[in-house]
Amino acid sequence: MAKNIQSVRGMHDILPSQSSSWQYLEATIRTLFNSYGYRELRTPILEPTELFSRGIGEVTDIVEKEMYTFADRNGDSLSMRPEGTASCVRAGIQHGLLHNQQQRIWYTGPMFRHERPQKGRYRQFYQAGLETYGVSTPDIDAEVIAIGARLWKQLGLKDIQLQLNTLGSDEARQSYRDILIEYFSAHHDQLDEDSQRRLHKNPLRILDTKNPDLKNIVEAAPSLMDYLDTESQEHFDGVKTRLDSLGINYYINPRLVRGIDYYNRTVFEWVTEELGAQGTVCAGGRYDGLVKRLGGKVTPACGFGIGLERLILLMQAQKAQTPTLHPNVYLIMAGAEAQLAGVILAESLRDLHPALNLQSNVAAGSFKAQIKRADKSGADYAFILGENEVSENTITIKPLRNDEQQINISQEQLSSYIENNILKTPS
Ligand code: ATP
Ligand code: MG
Repeated sequence: MAKNIQSVRGMHDILPSQSSSWQYLEATIRTLFNSYGYRELRTPILEPTELFSRGIGEVTDIVEKEMYTFADRNGDSLSMRPEGTASCVRAGIQHGLLHNQQQRIWYTGPMFRHERPQKGRYRQFYQAGLETYGVSTPDIDAEVIAIGARLWKQLGLKDIQLQLNTLGSDEARQSYRDILIEYFSAHHDQLDEDSQRRLHKNPLRILDTKNPDLKNIVEAAPSLMDYLDTESQEHFDGVKTRLDSLGINYYINPRLVRGIDYYNRTVFEWVTEELGAQGTVCAGGRYDGLVKRLGGKVTPACGFGIGLERLILLMQAQKAQTPTLHPNVYLIMAGAEAQLAGVILAESLRDLHPALNLQSNVAAGSFKAQIKRADKSGADYAFILGENEVSENTITIKPLRNDEQQINISQEQLSSYIENNILKTPS
């Protein structure tokens, strides 16, 4: 027998039974981002590889070992996007959205990284993110963070801690770099292979290591906070003052550098302890240098990306309420005549009540079989159309989820019954 084909390791199907939580999460995000004046940007999944090697940085985990890169039929090197920011900047420059103006943009979609699959870490995963361009003042950093805080609140999620740091200016980072090289060189033998290789190329990356053996050395490393330039310090104070006034708690983590090269000044992560090692559900910060690095004019920028699988896992862990999709009504049709009349009735009800979720029985079946399907569909009510109902122009309504008696009403009354009893939101 032929072997069943399985999905690619680390790439998962989202099944119909799971998709209502996903749709709820995505709709909540979309409505929230739109409500702050952000507008959606959709970019292709494939981009020139150079976009990411230049944008994210050559000496990063993503570019060094995680990208899905291949030559297409013309021999051009393409990569599946591992994140959304570089594409936003590329599109922004290409379409003139960034220069001399303010932009608020959001995106969502699948990202691809060849990592070791585990809980909360996949090779195809979904992100939703937002990006702002043209604003250098700390009010936008605070706005971006406040949007995250509001999202957790709207989803009913608790105990997501905000970790905050500042990476300062390029110059401050440059002098900090030298200090780090000196510090880590003194511990050269204890560093792992990756860190030894990065020591001179990108020593800040070592602070972001996932290797627990390096924890102590990293924790004892000099802090960038001590080398901060005045403007970055003031900017950081501005962010903190706003968060304080909004009552958004944060925890200053001087080791937070983020896994991508393009950040400066504010960086942050929203972290939960309930998902094990994959505890960061949202990460972002300011990246004032990226637009220029990708060929545009100097443009301040700030944003974040949310890992949607991790949020779904957290919603499950915290038993957050998500509405489940199910029909209001399952239409049962007994007999050939009723089957014809039922098709017309169902479509006219859909015309009259666009919000009605109505599932029609198909492929006939005995009354008993149809009742069984009605029950399995999760519908709240069965509408029953039999020979008598058709000839008398009535319909029988059978509540499926409580002990109420079934009733028989005229089809003229059906619309008001639907509005008053079925679609009426519970008060
Ligand atoms: P991590 O430190 O967990 O590897 P990262 O720093 O690589 O995360 P970012 O590039 O900042 O992550 O991506 C933003 C968010 O996307 C992360 O905080 C996380 O929630 C999610 N994310 C990143 N990589 C994966 C993955 N392989 N699978 C699932 N979600 C991911
Ligand atoms: Mg990573």
